[in-house]
Amino acid sequence: MDLDNEPVNQEIIRSNSDVDTIDKMNIDQSTNEEQSNVQSQDTEYIPDTPELLHIFYSKIFPYKTYAYWLNYGKEIDKPFLNREFSLQLPTEAVIRNLSFSGPDEMKTEILKFCPSKFDVGAVYTAKPKDKKSLRPSAFKPVEKELVFDIDMTDYDDIRTCCSGGDICNKCWQFMTVAIKILDVSLRGAILCLMAAYYTFQLTQIFFNTEDFGFKHLLWIYSGRRGVHCWVSDERARKLNNEERKAIVAYLEVVKGGAQQSKKVRLYKTLHPSLSRSLEIIEKYFEQVILEDQDVLQDEKNWTKVLNCIPDEGVKKKLHDNWLQSPKRSSVDKWNDLEYEVQYGAAKKASKKLESLQMCTKEIMFQYLYPRLDEKVTTQINHLLKSPFCVHPKTGRVCVTISPENCEYFNPLEVPTLTMLYRQLNESYANKTDGKRIRNDYDVTSLKPYIKYFENFVESIVSEVREKNRAKEVFSMEF
Ligand SMILES: [Zn+2]
Repeated sequence: MDLDNEPVNQEIIRSNSDVDTIDKMNIDQSTNEEQSNVQSQDTEYIPDTPELLHIFYSKIFPYKTYAYWLNYGKEIDKPFLNREFSLQLPTEAVIRNLSFSGPDEMKTEILKFCPSKFDVGAVYTAKPKDKKSLRPSAFKPVEKELVFDIDMTDYDDIRTCCSGGDICNKCWQFMTVAIKILDVSLRGAILCLMAAYYTFQLTQIFFNTEDFGFKHLLWIYSGRRGVHCWVSDERARKLNNEERKAIVAYLEVVKGGAQQSKKVRLYKTLHPSLSRSLEIIEKYFEQVILEDQDVLQDEKNWTKVLNCIPDEGVKKKLHDNWLQSPKRSSVDKWNDLEYEVQYGAAKKASKKLESLQMCTKEIMFQYLYPRLDEKVTTQINHLLKSPFCVHPKTGRVCVTISPENCEYFNPLEVPTLTMLYRQLNESYANKTDGKRIRNDYDVTSLKPYIKYFENFVESIVSEVREKNRAKEVFSMEF
C-alpha cells in the first residue's frame, strides 16, 4: 500500500466547505486565547497542510485508547458520551458543544472537519450535542479531570535566553522543574487536601478514605511552549470549582504580576510539601538559574534578584560590589549574596535577620517554583487542548512526558506532522515482505509516546474495573 495512493485528496479534505453547514449557533468566532498571544517565531512548520493533518487523523491518532481514557472503561458510557469537545477549524472558527457516540464517530467527525486543533471539556448531565434542546437546568457539568497549565510566557520576567513563543533547551528546564515539583506535590496530595479543608471547610469526604494522593497524572507537552497535567483519578474528576480553587490556592507560591518584584513569601518553618519542593529546586538552581540563565550576569537582571532582598543596605553593598567586578560569574555573585544575607546582616534586629535569611529560599522559589495558570484549573467547564492533537503553529504533536524522565524530554525533537508523514511514506516504500503493520504509528517516532499513553490508560481502566468488581462482590454479600 502506498500512502500516496491513499484517499488523501481534496474530496476528503473538506473542512473549509463544511464550515458553512455547521449550525451557526455552535460557532464561537472568538479567537483562541493562546493563538492571539502567539508571536510568529516558529518558522520550521508551514501550517497550511490539511493533507498532512488528514493523514495524521486517519492513520495515527489513537482514537480507541483515547476514548477508553475519557470513558474510564472499555464499554463506552456517559463519561465519554456526555463529554464536551470543541474543534478549531483552519479558519479559526471554533465549534463547541460537540460530543461523540464512541471512537468511531469521533474519527468520522474529526476527519470530516480536519480541525487544526481540538479541546476537551467537562462531562455533562446530558450529551453536549443535545444542549440546544435541553432546559439549562438539565445541562450541568458534573466532572472533569483536574488540569494544570504551565506556560513559558509566565517566566518571561526571569528567563534571559528567549521570550514570547520561543523556547530553547535552556529555558525548557523551567518546565522540567515545574513538572518534578507539581508531580510530587499532587501525588502527596494528602497535605494539599488537608489545607483545602481548613481553607474552605470542604466536606469530610477527603478524610474518610485511606489514600489521598493522586495516582493517575498524565503530563502532556502543549506542542509549543508549555505543559499540561491531566489528573485523572476519580476523586480529582469529581472536585467542584471551590475545591479546585482551594487546591490552586494551596499550590500557588509565586504570586503577583510582572510589576511586583518580590513574588514569594515563606514562613521560617517550611511546610513539608514546600520542603520537598525546595529539595528539587536546590538540585536545579545552580545549573538552570545561575549557569544557563546567568541571571546575575548584568545589572538589569541582577537588579531583579536584589529587589527581592528586604534590606536596602545589603542590596546596595552587593550592587556596588558587582558594579566593581561585573565579570564575576553568577555562581560567585550568588555566593556573595548568600554570605551577605546570612552573615553580613548579623547585627540586624532578629526579625529583620529572619526575613533576610529566608530571602535566599524565597528567591530560589521565585525563580523555579511552577507558575500556574489559575483559570484553567479552577473552572470545571474550562476547555483544554487535547493530548495527541497537533499544535497549529508548530506542527508538533502534543505528546506525553514521563515525569520521572522529563529532564531528557526535548520539545524541539517532538514528532511533527511532516516528520510523521515522511516516516509513514518511507515505511510503505520499504515494505516488501507483505507483513501487515498492526498500527501505522508503530513505524513512526510517535510510537513510544502512544505506548506510554496506552500503559497510562490501561492502569486506570483496570483500577476502575477492579473497583467495580469489588462493589459487585460487596452487593452480592449483602
Ligand atoms: Zn530559551
